[in-house]
Amino acid sequence: MKALSKLHPREGLWMTHAPVPEIGPDDVLIKINKTGICGTDIHIWNWDDWAAKTVPVPMITGHEFAGEIVEIGRNVEGLEIGQRCSGEGHLIGKNSRQSRAGKFHLDPATRGIGVNEQGAFAQYLKLPAFNVVPLPDEISDDIGAILDPLGNAVHTALSFDLVGEDVLITGAGPIGIMAAAVARHVGARHVVITDVNPDRLTLAQNVVPDVVTVDVSREDLGDVIPRLKMKQGFDVGLEMSGNQRALDQMVEAMTMGGRIAMLGIPPGKSPVDWSRIVFKAITIKGVYGREIFETWYKMIAMLENGLDVSRIITHRFAVDDFEAGFAAMRSGQSGKVVLDWT
Ligand code: NAD
Ligand code: ZN
Repeated sequence: MKALSKLHPREGLWMTHAPVPEIGPDDVLIKINKTGICGTDIHIWNWDDWAAKTVPVPMITGHEFAGEIVEIGRNVEGLEIGQRCSGEGHLIGKNSRQSRAGKFHLDPATRGIGVNEQGAFAQYLKLPAFNVVPLPDEISDDIGAILDPLGNAVHTALSFDLVGEDVLITGAGPIGIMAAAVARHVGARHVVITDVNPDRLTLAQNVVPDVVTVDVSREDLGDVIPRLKMKQGFDVGLEMSGNQRALDQMVEAMTMGGRIAMLGIPPGKSPVDWSRIVFKAITIKGVYGREIFETWYKMIAMLENGLDVSRIITHRFAVDDFEAGFAAMRSGQSGKVVLDWT
């Protein structure tokens, strides 16, 4: 089969031929139709310090996918050949305290496809049946291929009650923009999103027409609070940039007793004004991945009930043009980039 692999410990990815994976009794084999390129895949392409430390070579990359089941292990029940699906790319153990309590997303032994285990940028993917998420007919393969990052957005956005709340999102990358769509969908009052890249803010407006955008390289976020007739500041913050200054700005713009969910990954140890956090009595929650499988359930229910993130996909390429796809993603100007394997 064709597979997009990290063959050498240096910049780039290579289209290779790999054997079709052999499945075990508890697995399924998925024929891949569409895949999404993630920021993680860009780290692996660039071969930065994190990638060099984490990813063994050779490795088939990729973890955002939609496809259909073509083979089923003998122990697997409840799935059929031909079933369209996406799936959770975090492979979890079943022995930790967290897993045994049903909190699968907190299992410390989690391994990621396309990072620690052979991934989804291939014509076929082996996946534990446990990880499969069937797709209803109304959800296209394009959307199926971005459910992983949409799930990050949903998990973060649903961390706190948003109904009637004023929500600040720092970072208008694909995940921040999708979080803005989710916040509107579930009934937030004002949703404000910041970035320093005007193209990303234009994209945010395009995907979520009634979001308020602030270019914090030119505008003062503090000016927005009286403009929107908010009394003190934001009730809920969703940190989606991984940028230290964005987190500082967020803490400053929160109301007393505000709640912050952090998905963005700061580079190393970042200084934070802890006294502001203490005196404002702010709650901070770290968010990793998706809740398995509650996030998937809610995300699919919302998509079936009017949540529309389709315009976040800005580029589509046949997989043979993967280099153009990665170039679009690396430019920082794109939304989600989807590769077609059919
Ligand atoms: P992205 O890099 O595409 O988007 C980040 C955005 O933040 C960019 O548009 C950038 O211009 C903007 N930004 C930079 N400085 C800023 C500032 N001072 N204020 C406001 N915005 C600023 O990333 P993405 O794919 O949308 O992912 C969002 C974040 O979530 C990243 O940090 C990513 O590493 C992280 N992530 C975490 C998990 C997890 O499980 N915790 C999973 C996926 C992604
Ligand atoms: Zn991803």
